[in-house]
Amino acid sequence: MFTDSLPDSPADLPVHPASPIRLIQPNPPRLSTMTQDLEAIEASGRFSNYGPVNTRLEQALVQDLFGGNGACVTVCNATLGLILAIRQSIDASRMPAARHAPAYALMPAFTFAATAHAALWCGLTPLLCDIDPKSWIACPEAERALVERYGEAIAVIVPCTTFGCPIDRPHYERLAASIGAAIVVDAAAAVGTRDMDGLSVGTGWRAPSVFSMHATKPFATLEGGFVYSADLDCIEGLRAMANFGFDGARSAIMPGLNAKMNEVTAAMGLARIEAMPEILLHRETLAQAYRALLPELAFQECHAVSQAHVFLPALLPRSVPGGRAAVLRRAAQAGIELGTYYAPHLGDQPYFRETCLRGDLPITADVSARIVSLPLHEGLALQDVRRVANLIKEACL
Ligand SMILES: *Cc1c(COP(=O)(O)O)cnc(C)c1O
Repeated sequence: MFTDSLPDSPADLPVHPASPIRLIQPNPPRLSTMTQDLEAIEASGRFSNYGPVNTRLEQALVQDLFGGNGACVTVCNATLGLILAIRQSIDASRMPAARHAPAYALMPAFTFAATAHAALWCGLTPLLCDIDPKSWIACPEAERALVERYGEAIAVIVPCTTFGCPIDRPHYERLAASIGAAIVVDAAAAVGTRDMDGLSVGTGWRAPSVFSMHATKPFATLEGGFVYSADLDCIEGLRAMANFGFDGARSAIMPGLNAKMNEVTAAMGLARIEAMPEILLHRETLAQAYRALLPELAFQECHAVSQAHVFLPALLPRSVPGGRAAVLRRAAQAGIELGTYYAPHLGDQPYFRETCLRGDLPITADVSARIVSLPLHEGLALQDVRRVANLIKEACL
Protein backbone atom coordinates (compact mmCIF):
# COMPACT_ATOMS: atom_id res chain seq x y z
CA MET A 1 0.00 0.00 0.00
CA PHE A 2 2.81 2.41 0.89
CA THR A 3 4.54 2.65 -2.46
CA ASP A 4 5.58 6.24 -1.95
CA SER A 5 8.62 5.33 0.14
CA LEU A 6 11.25 7.88 1.02
CA PRO A 7 15.03 7.45 1.50
CA ASP A 8 16.10 6.68 5.05
CA SER A 9 18.32 9.65 5.68
CA PRO A 10 16.46 12.97 5.99
CA ALA A 11 19.65 14.72 4.81
CA ASP A 12 19.37 13.57 1.21
CA LEU A 13 15.63 13.85 0.81
CA PRO A 14 14.63 15.34 -2.51
CA VAL A 15 12.09 18.12 -2.60
CA HIS A 16 8.79 16.28 -3.04
CA PRO A 17 7.40 16.71 -6.53
CA ALA A 18 3.77 16.53 -5.36
CA SER A 19 1.96 19.71 -4.44
CA PRO A 20 2.33 21.06 -0.92
CA ILE A 21 -0.14 19.95 1.74
CA ARG A 22 -1.06 22.67 4.17
CA LEU A 23 -2.09 21.93 7.74
CA ILE A 24 -5.08 24.26 7.65
CA GLN A 25 -6.53 25.70 4.47
CA PRO A 26 -9.20 28.27 5.32
CA ASN A 27 -12.29 27.71 3.20
CA PRO A 28 -14.97 30.21 4.22
CA PRO A 29 -18.09 30.68 2.07
CA ARG A 30 -17.09 32.51 -1.09
CA LEU A 31 -18.03 36.14 -0.79
CA SER A 32 -17.47 36.53 -4.54
CA THR A 33 -20.47 34.24 -5.13
CA MET A 34 -22.64 36.01 -2.54
CA THR A 35 -23.36 39.22 -4.41
CA GLN A 36 -27.13 38.86 -3.87
CA ASP A 37 -26.65 38.69 -0.11
CA LEU A 38 -24.31 41.66 -0.22
CA GLU A 39 -26.75 43.70 -2.31
CA ALA A 40 -29.53 42.90 0.14
CA ILE A 41 -27.36 44.13 3.02
CA GLU A 42 -26.56 47.34 1.15
CA ALA A 43 -30.23 47.85 0.38
CA SER A 44 -31.18 47.34 4.02
CA GLY A 45 -28.78 50.01 5.19
CA ARG A 46 -28.00 47.85 8.22
CA PHE A 47 -24.38 46.77 8.49
CA SER A 48 -24.02 45.80 12.14
CA ASN A 49 -25.69 46.36 15.55
CA TYR A 50 -27.67 43.11 15.52
CA GLY A 51 -29.25 43.64 12.11
CA PRO A 52 -31.72 41.36 10.34
CA VAL A 53 -29.17 38.95 8.85
CA ASN A 54 -27.58 38.55 12.28
CA THR A 55 -30.97 37.80 13.81
CA ARG A 56 -31.59 35.12 11.20
CA LEU A 57 -28.19 33.61 11.88
CA GLU A 58 -28.77 33.47 15.64
CA GLN A 59 -32.13 31.77 15.12
CA ALA A 60 -30.70 29.32 12.61
CA LEU A 61 -27.85 28.39 14.96
CA VAL A 62 -30.25 27.69 17.82
CA GLN A 63 -32.41 25.53 15.55
CA ASP A 64 -29.63 23.70 13.80
CA LEU A 65 -27.17 23.06 16.64
CA PHE A 66 -29.26 23.20 19.82
CA GLY A 67 -32.56 21.68 18.71
CA GLY A 68 -34.38 25.00 19.13
CA ASN A 69 -33.64 25.08 22.85
CA GLY A 70 -32.18 28.28 24.40
CA ALA A 71 -30.67 31.32 22.71
CA CYS A 72 -27.44 32.67 21.33
CA VAL A 73 -25.78 35.98 20.62
CA THR A 74 -23.13 36.42 17.97
CA VAL A 75 -19.79 38.03 18.74
CA CYS A 76 -17.03 39.29 16.48
CA ASN A 77 -14.69 36.57 17.77
CA ALA A 78 -14.75 33.84 20.42
CA THR A 79 -12.03 35.45 22.54
CA LEU A 80 -14.23 38.48 23.18
CA GLY A 81 -17.14 36.07 23.76
CA LEU A 82 -15.10 34.35 26.48
CA ILE A 83 -14.18 37.69 28.09
CA LEU A 84 -17.83 38.77 28.12
CA ALA A 85 -19.14 35.46 29.47
CA ILE A 86 -16.47 35.18 32.19
CA ARG A 87 -16.99 38.80 33.26
CA GLN A 88 -20.75 38.34 33.38
CA SER A 89 -20.41 35.15 35.40
CA ILE A 90 -18.21 36.69 38.08
CA ASP A 91 -20.32 39.84 38.31
CA ALA A 92 -23.46 37.73 38.72
CA SER A 93 -22.15 35.11 41.11
CA ARG A 94 -20.29 37.18 43.69
CA MET A 95 -20.76 40.43 45.52
CA PRO A 96 -17.47 42.36 45.41
CA ALA A 97 -17.07 42.06 49.19
CA ALA A 98 -17.20 38.29 48.98
CA ARG A 99 -14.50 38.12 46.32
CA HIS A 100 -11.26 36.49 47.27
CA ALA A 101 -8.02 38.02 46.14
CA PRO A 102 -6.67 36.53 44.02
CA ALA A 103 -9.62 34.82 42.36
CA TYR A 104 -8.94 31.94 40.01
CA ALA A 105 -10.28 30.59 36.73
CA LEU A 106 -9.77 26.83 36.66
CA MET A 107 -8.86 25.61 33.16
CA PRO A 108 -6.76 22.92 31.48
CA ALA A 109 -3.13 23.81 30.70
CA PHE A 110 -3.61 22.07 27.37
CA THR A 111 -5.68 24.64 25.49
CA PHE A 112 -5.36 27.66 23.25
CA ALA A 113 -3.92 30.91 24.63
CA ALA A 114 -7.27 32.71 24.28
CA THR A 115 -8.77 30.82 27.23
CA ALA A 116 -6.13 32.10 29.66
CA HIS A 117 -6.06 35.59 28.12
CA ALA A 118 -9.81 35.91 28.57
CA ALA A 119 -9.61 35.08 32.28
CA LEU A 120 -6.72 37.50 32.75
CA TRP A 121 -8.65 40.33 31.05
CA CYS A 122 -11.39 39.67 33.62
CA GLY A 123 -8.93 40.12 36.48
CA LEU A 124 -8.76 36.40 37.28
CA THR A 125 -5.66 34.26 37.65
CA PRO A 126 -5.80 31.14 35.45
CA LEU A 127 -5.31 28.01 37.54
CA LEU A 128 -3.93 25.43 35.12
CA CYS A 129 -4.80 21.80 35.63
CA ASP A 130 -3.60 18.57 34.05
CA ILE A 131 -5.40 16.58 31.37
CA ASP A 132 -6.61 13.03 30.89
CA PRO A 133 -4.09 10.87 28.98
CA LYS A 134 -6.72 9.52 26.56
CA SER A 135 -9.22 12.33 25.93
CA TRP A 136 -6.72 15.20 26.45
CA ILE A 137 -9.46 17.28 28.05
CA ALA A 138 -9.14 18.36 31.70
CA CYS A 139 -8.60 15.43 34.09
CA PRO A 140 -11.50 15.22 36.60
CA GLU A 141 -9.24 14.06 39.44
CA ALA A 142 -6.79 16.90 38.82
CA GLU A 143 -9.71 19.36 38.81
CA ARG A 144 -11.12 17.95 42.04
CA ALA A 145 -7.71 18.18 43.73
CA LEU A 146 -7.39 21.87 42.77
CA VAL A 147 -10.97 22.59 43.83
CA GLU A 148 -10.24 21.03 47.21
CA ARG A 149 -7.09 23.07 47.59
CA TYR A 150 -8.33 26.48 46.35
CA GLY A 151 -12.02 26.15 47.19
CA GLU A 152 -14.10 29.31 46.89
CA ALA A 153 -11.17 31.32 45.59
CA ILE A 154 -12.05 29.68 42.25
CA ALA A 155 -14.59 32.09 40.77
CA VAL A 156 -15.15 30.31 37.49
CA ILE A 157 -14.45 26.92 35.95
CA VAL A 158 -13.65 27.01 32.23
CA PRO A 159 -13.96 23.52 30.70
CA CYS A 160 -12.47 23.32 27.19
CA THR A 161 -13.81 21.10 24.41
CA THR A 162 -10.26 20.47 23.27
CA PHE A 163 -10.07 19.62 19.55
CA GLY A 164 -13.88 19.44 19.53
CA CYS A 165 -14.19 16.78 22.25
CA PRO A 166 -17.35 17.11 24.42
CA ILE A 167 -17.08 17.55 28.20
CA ASP A 168 -18.89 15.85 31.07
CA ARG A 169 -21.73 18.15 32.14
CA PRO A 170 -22.76 16.41 35.41
CA HIS A 171 -19.13 16.41 36.54
CA TYR A 172 -18.82 20.17 36.02
CA GLU A 173 -22.16 20.93 37.63
CA ARG A 174 -21.14 18.99 40.75
CA LEU A 175 -17.70 20.57 40.84
CA ALA A 176 -19.01 24.13 40.43
CA ALA A 177 -21.83 23.66 42.92
CA SER A 178 -19.41 22.42 45.58
CA ILE A 179 -17.69 25.83 45.72
CA GLY A 180 -20.34 28.18 44.30
CA ALA A 181 -18.26 28.80 41.15
CA ALA A 182 -19.64 29.77 37.76
CA ILE A 183 -19.02 27.73 34.59
CA VAL A 184 -18.11 29.16 31.19
CA VAL A 185 -17.40 26.57 28.49
CA ASP A 186 -14.68 27.28 25.93
CA ALA A 187 -16.34 25.40 23.09
CA ALA A 188 -14.50 27.44 20.45
CA ALA A 189 -13.41 24.39 18.46
CA ALA A 190 -16.66 22.45 18.82
CA VAL A 191 -19.08 23.94 16.29
CA GLY A 192 -20.38 20.83 14.54
CA THR A 193 -19.53 18.36 17.30
CA ARG A 194 -22.61 16.30 18.21
CA ASP A 195 -22.64 15.18 21.82
CA MET A 196 -24.15 11.82 22.85
CA ASP A 197 -27.68 13.31 22.62
CA GLY A 198 -27.02 14.25 18.99
CA LEU A 199 -27.03 17.98 19.79
CA SER A 200 -24.24 20.50 20.18
CA VAL A 201 -22.05 20.71 23.27
CA GLY A 202 -23.78 23.06 25.73
CA THR A 203 -27.39 22.33 24.73
CA GLY A 204 -29.70 22.91 27.67
CA TRP A 205 -26.96 24.36 29.93
CA ARG A 206 -27.57 27.65 31.61
CA ALA A 207 -23.79 28.02 31.80
CA PRO A 208 -22.74 29.84 28.62
CA SER A 209 -20.75 28.04 25.91
CA VAL A 210 -18.56 30.09 23.59
CA PHE A 211 -17.99 29.02 19.98
CA SER A 212 -15.68 30.30 17.24
CA MET A 213 -16.38 30.93 13.56
CA HIS A 214 -12.81 31.89 12.76
CA ALA A 215 -11.66 31.27 9.18
CA THR A 216 -9.41 28.42 10.34
CA LYS A 217 -12.21 26.48 12.05
CA PRO A 218 -14.59 24.08 10.23
CA PHE A 219 -17.46 26.56 10.74
CA ALA A 220 -15.43 29.15 8.87
CA THR A 221 -16.40 32.76 8.29
CA LEU A 222 -13.70 35.45 8.60
CA GLU A 223 -13.64 36.47 12.27
CA GLY A 224 -16.67 35.57 14.33
CA GLY A 225 -18.26 33.50 17.05
CA PHE A 226 -21.30 33.14 19.25
CA VAL A 227 -22.28 32.44 22.83
CA TYR A 228 -25.08 29.98 23.61
CA SER A 229 -27.04 29.50 26.83
CA ALA A 230 -30.34 27.90 27.78
CA ASP A 231 -30.82 31.00 29.96
CA LEU A 232 -32.34 33.77 27.82
CA ASP A 233 -31.45 36.45 30.40
CA CYS A 234 -27.81 35.41 30.26
CA ILE A 235 -27.83 35.90 26.49
CA GLU A 236 -29.65 39.24 26.62
CA GLY A 237 -27.17 40.43 29.27
CA LEU A 238 -24.25 39.43 27.04
CA ARG A 239 -25.91 41.16 24.09
CA ALA A 240 -26.02 44.40 26.06
CA MET A 241 -22.44 43.95 27.33
CA ALA A 242 -21.22 43.40 23.77
CA ASN A 243 -22.92 46.69 22.81
CA PHE A 244 -21.13 49.00 25.27
CA GLY A 245 -23.21 47.83 28.25
CA PHE A 246 -26.09 49.99 27.02
CA ASP A 247 -29.70 49.76 28.01
CA GLY A 248 -32.21 50.68 25.27
CA ALA A 249 -31.39 54.39 25.65
CA ARG A 250 -27.62 54.25 25.02
CA SER A 251 -26.96 54.69 28.69
CA ALA A 252 -24.39 52.26 30.14
CA ILE A 253 -25.81 50.12 32.91
CA MET A 254 -23.11 47.42 33.05
CA PRO A 255 -19.52 46.79 31.94
CA GLY A 256 -19.34 46.87 28.17
CA LEU A 257 -17.26 46.70 25.08
CA ASN A 258 -17.93 46.36 21.37
CA ALA A 259 -18.04 42.71 20.35
CA LYS A 260 -20.80 42.81 17.74
CA MET A 261 -20.82 40.76 14.55
CA ASN A 262 -21.32 42.61 11.25
CA GLU A 263 -24.00 41.69 8.71
CA VAL A 264 -21.58 40.40 6.06
CA THR A 265 -20.07 37.88 8.48
CA ALA A 266 -23.57 36.90 9.56
CA ALA A 267 -24.48 36.19 5.91
CA MET A 268 -21.38 34.00 5.66
CA GLY A 269 -22.48 32.20 8.81
CA LEU A 270 -25.86 31.41 7.26
CA ALA A 271 -24.14 30.06 4.16
CA ARG A 272 -21.86 27.96 6.33
CA ILE A 273 -24.73 26.31 8.20
CA GLU A 274 -25.91 24.88 4.87
CA ALA A 275 -22.49 23.61 3.91
CA MET A 276 -21.60 22.08 7.28
CA PRO A 277 -22.97 18.53 6.86
CA GLU A 278 -20.85 17.93 3.77
CA ILE A 279 -17.77 19.56 5.32
CA LEU A 280 -18.04 17.49 8.50
CA LEU A 281 -18.54 14.29 6.54
CA HIS A 282 -15.49 14.97 4.39
CA ARG A 283 -13.36 15.73 7.45
CA GLU A 284 -14.59 12.62 9.26
CA THR A 285 -13.76 10.43 6.25
CA LEU A 286 -10.20 11.76 6.21
CA ALA A 287 -9.91 11.35 10.00
CA GLN A 288 -10.97 7.70 9.78
CA ALA A 289 -8.45 7.09 7.03
CA TYR A 290 -5.65 8.51 9.19
CA ARG A 291 -6.69 6.32 12.11
CA ALA A 292 -6.74 3.21 9.92
CA LEU A 293 -3.44 3.96 8.21
CA LEU A 294 -1.50 4.96 11.32
CA PRO A 295 -1.94 2.36 14.07
CA GLU A 296 1.47 3.42 15.44
CA LEU A 297 0.01 6.77 16.57
CA ALA A 298 -2.34 7.40 19.51
CA PHE A 299 -5.47 9.38 18.65
CA GLN A 300 -7.80 11.31 20.93
CA GLU A 301 -10.46 9.15 22.58
CA CYS A 302 -13.67 11.00 23.13
CA HIS A 303 -17.33 10.12 23.38
CA ALA A 304 -19.41 11.90 20.78
CA VAL A 305 -21.88 11.03 18.03
CA SER A 306 -19.57 13.04 15.79
CA GLN A 307 -16.63 15.33 16.36
CA ALA A 308 -15.74 18.44 14.39
CA HIS A 309 -12.05 18.45 13.42
CA VAL A 310 -9.97 21.58 12.81
CA PHE A 311 -7.06 19.23 12.01
CA LEU A 312 -6.32 15.74 13.32
CA PRO A 313 -4.12 15.63 16.44
CA ALA A 314 -2.17 12.47 17.26
CA LEU A 315 0.64 11.37 19.57
CA LEU A 316 3.89 10.10 18.10
CA PRO A 317 5.44 7.04 19.73
CA ARG A 318 8.09 7.85 22.37
CA SER A 319 10.63 5.95 20.28
CA VAL A 320 10.55 8.16 17.16
CA PRO A 321 14.11 8.59 15.86
CA GLY A 322 15.20 12.20 16.32
CA GLY A 323 11.95 12.99 18.14
CA ARG A 324 9.10 15.16 16.89
CA ALA A 325 11.42 17.80 15.47
CA ALA A 326 12.84 15.28 13.01
CA VAL A 327 9.35 14.26 11.87
CA LEU A 328 8.33 17.89 11.34
CA ARG A 329 11.53 18.58 9.39
CA ARG A 330 11.10 15.53 7.25
CA ALA A 331 7.49 16.45 6.53
CA ALA A 332 8.44 20.01 5.62
CA GLN A 333 11.02 18.67 3.17
CA ALA A 334 8.25 16.59 1.58
CA GLY A 335 6.00 19.65 1.26
CA ILE A 336 3.74 18.55 4.12
CA GLU A 337 2.92 21.02 6.86
CA LEU A 338 2.36 19.46 10.28
CA GLY A 339 1.43 21.44 13.38
CA THR A 340 2.08 21.10 17.10
CA TYR A 341 -1.13 22.28 18.78
CA TYR A 342 -0.82 22.72 21.79
CA ALA A 343 2.92 22.85 22.25
CA PRO A 344 4.08 24.79 24.14
CA HIS A 345 1.13 24.31 26.49
CA LEU A 346 -0.05 27.29 28.56
CA GLY A 347 2.22 26.46 31.50
CA ASP A 348 5.26 26.67 29.20
CA GLN A 349 4.44 30.01 27.52
CA PRO A 350 6.47 32.91 28.94
CA TYR A 351 3.57 35.28 29.61
CA PHE A 352 1.44 32.61 31.25
CA ARG A 353 4.37 31.36 33.35
CA GLU A 354 4.36 34.81 34.93
CA THR A 355 0.62 35.28 35.24
CA CYS A 356 -0.93 31.85 35.87
CA LEU A 357 -0.79 29.36 38.70
CA ARG A 358 -0.17 25.77 37.71
CA GLY A 359 -0.92 22.46 39.33
CA ASP A 360 1.21 19.40 38.53
CA LEU A 361 1.12 18.87 34.77
CA PRO A 362 2.81 15.52 33.99
CA ILE A 363 0.27 14.33 31.41
CA THR A 364 0.06 17.76 29.78
CA ALA A 365 3.86 17.79 29.47
CA ASP A 366 3.95 14.32 27.91
CA VAL A 367 1.07 14.91 25.47
CA SER A 368 2.39 18.32 24.53
CA ALA A 369 5.85 16.88 23.84
CA ARG A 370 4.58 14.16 21.49
CA ILE A 371 1.59 15.70 19.76
CA VAL A 372 1.46 16.47 16.06
CA SER A 373 -1.43 18.04 14.15
CA LEU A 374 -2.12 16.27 10.86
CA PRO A 375 -3.60 18.17 7.88
CA LEU A 376 -7.37 17.78 7.55
CA HIS A 377 -9.49 20.07 5.42
CA GLU A 378 -11.77 20.30 2.43
CA GLY A 379 -8.81 20.78 0.09
CA LEU A 380 -7.50 17.27 0.82
CA ALA A 381 -8.43 13.90 -0.69
CA LEU A 382 -7.76 10.37 0.55
CA GLN A 383 -4.61 10.16 -1.54
CA ASP A 384 -3.21 13.16 0.34
CA VAL A 385 -3.94 11.43 3.64
CA ARG A 386 -2.07 8.39 2.32
CA ARG A 387 0.89 10.59 1.43
CA VAL A 388 0.99 12.10 4.93
CA ALA A 389 0.54 8.69 6.54
CA ASN A 390 3.37 7.19 4.46
CA LEU A 391 5.70 9.93 5.54
CA ILE A 392 4.83 9.54 9.22
CA LYS A 393 5.23 5.75 9.00
CA GLU A 394 8.66 6.11 7.46
CA ALA A 395 9.70 8.65 10.05
CA CYS A 396 8.58 6.38 12.89
CA LEU A 397 10.73 3.45 11.74
C1 LIG B 1 -10.02 29.16 18.11
C2 LIG B 1 -10.05 29.11 19.60
C3 LIG B 1 -10.28 30.26 20.37
C4 LIG B 1 -10.34 31.63 19.79
O1 LIG B 1 -11.37 31.84 18.89
P1 LIG B 1 -11.40 33.21 18.07
O2 LIG B 1 -12.73 33.23 17.42
O3 LIG B 1 -10.26 33.14 17.08
O4 LIG B 1 -11.20 34.33 19.03
C5 LIG B 1 -10.38 30.12 21.74
N1 LIG B 1 -10.25 28.93 22.35
C6 LIG B 1 -10.03 27.79 21.65
C7 LIG B 1 -9.92 26.49 22.36
C8 LIG B 1 -9.91 27.85 20.26
O5 LIG B 1 -9.66 26.73 19.56
